Amino acid sequence: MRILRVVVVAALVLVVGAVLLRALDRPGAKLYVGGSIVTMDSQNRVVEALAVDGDRIVSTGSRAELQAWAQEAGAEIVDLAGRTIVPGFIDAHGHFPGAGLAAVFVDLNSPPIGSVENMEGLVALLSQRAAETPEGEWIIGIGYDDTLMLEQRHPTRHDLDRASTKHPIGVLHISGHLGVANSAALEVSGISAQTPDPQGGLIRREDDGGRPNGILEETATEPVQSRLIPGAMDVLRMLERANELYLEQGVTTAQSGSTDAGLVRVFDWASWLGMVPLRLVVWPTPEAADSLLAGELEAGQWDPLRVRVGAVKIIADGSIQGYTGYLREPYRIPPGDDPLYRGYPRVSRDELIEQVRRYHGAGLQLAIHGNGDASIDDILDAIEIAQAENPRADTRHIIIHAQMAQDDQLDRMKQLGVLPSFFSLHTFYWGDRHRRIFMGPERAARMSPAKSALARGVRFTIHCDAPVVPMEPLRLVWAAVNRKTRSDLTLGEAERISPMQALAAVTIDAAWQHFEDDVKGSLEPGKLADFVILSRSPLDDPETIDEIEVIETVIGGRTEYRR
Ligand SMILES: [Zn+2]
Repeated sequence: MRILRVVVVAALVLVVGAVLLRALDRPGAKLYVGGSIVTMDSQNRVVEALAVDGDRIVSTGSRAELQAWAQEAGAEIVDLAGRTIVPGFIDAHGHFPGAGLAAVFVDLNSPPIGSVENMEGLVALLSQRAAETPEGEWIIGIGYDDTLMLEQRHPTRHDLDRASTKHPIGVLHISGHLGVANSAALEVSGISAQTPDPQGGLIRREDDGGRPNGILEETATEPVQSRLIPGAMDVLRMLERANELYLEQGVTTAQSGSTDAGLVRVFDWASWLGMVPLRLVVWPTPEAADSLLAGELEAGQWDPLRVRVGAVKIIADGSIQGYTGYLREPYRIPPGDDPLYRGYPRVSRDELIEQVRRYHGAGLQLAIHGNGDASIDDILDAIEIAQAENPRADTRHIIIHAQMAQDDQLDRMKQLGVLPSFFSLHTFYWGDRHRRIFMGPERAARMSPAKSALARGVRFTIHCDAPVVPMEPLRLVWAAVNRKTRSDLTLGEAERISPMQALAAVTIDAAWQHFEDDVKGSLEPGKLADFVILSRSPLDDPETIDEIEVIETVIGGRTEYRR
């Protein structure tokens, strides 16, 4: 016992020592020259020198202007050798550290993200994991995409039973809005022929009657989703992996959407211990928001510039490629026999209105997931009702994805001060299938309508929704600028935006969305020294922005990644 106590005390001393050392190790003064500095300030100035000291930006301008300061401050002169500095990329929406999930669960993604090309491949990966896992323990797979598999269908419990009948197996669709359970998983979750569909979800059944076929939609995925909570060591592995994946892509602020109270606490601790060099903006679940409002949960206590609680995340509908996005008009090719099928809301309209009222009334920002235009109607109605009851200025309520936002809805967003955050990589990853299967050419051409938003003066952001697709801000910018599908088709030429506009959507506008534009998002005196050195300027040669390399990622003046 005594030895244990000594070990614990020694470990604590080491940890506190490391934290103190980190705090005392102030980054020195540096002058970056010899390349271009894209400031993203209000004039979109591009300058030739950037001066930083400690964790802040001192100044930007010409080399001649900053030379005297450099001498006086004894600054190190850093030669960019023709490279370009841009503000650090700010994640407008994602699920940090979900990108690290593949380090813990079975990665069932298809190329270019993973390796699954058909049902055999999916079953093989799960069998492999089953062989290494004690009987009775859950096996969880993530990221499968029916539309990228040879068979063009979801797995059923029968497919998953081929991987194991001795382990409960749950796999989650790439959208996160559908899941599949094998027979053992259905059994331990108590899902049988007698189980009714839950509200806001569906248990798909076999043709012969009521027996579940294993495929679960929306709220019915809960038994699988609830298994996605990794153990303590797994969380550390996820954090480590996610950190690497974000830093090597130039991300300096990560976003964690739908975060429960436990994870909020983990973030605070991990950040304090220096295990998360990224800055975090956390969007609590409604339950976690209730705990915050009741004073039972605190966050960002040690440094709000490291961990900050932002909007309350609410999910109004599902995913269009999962046939659960809620549309005004029917899907082009319906999933079943009903030609008028147009998806469904995940929460009832009344419940949505109630939730929006509650959190808007409490003075909080809202981030509401809405893909389909029928869902966006409900969200805008709810915000309008809440505003009428309780007028608030500058709420920056967000509609996440806003994929099918129509012109009349963008007009309402302008009027209500709502901002859309577009998942602009949809055009690349799913554009061909949206055109052919889900939306048809006309509607697909105007999904994620960034240009239409600009035309109305609706400020917006763009996001990767990692781990739905990998965290790649430069590919995201490229997607918003070019709108190329995987088959190299330009989908919706009219909705393309300029590189400068797309860059703003992952820097200064994303900072604005998070109410952090006073300290982040542009390279201006007094702001945090969060920036990225790129192999070339993203403002040139728009067609190959996705090929630009991240050379170095700097957070608070500290180099956290170097290629
Ligand atoms: Zn998301």
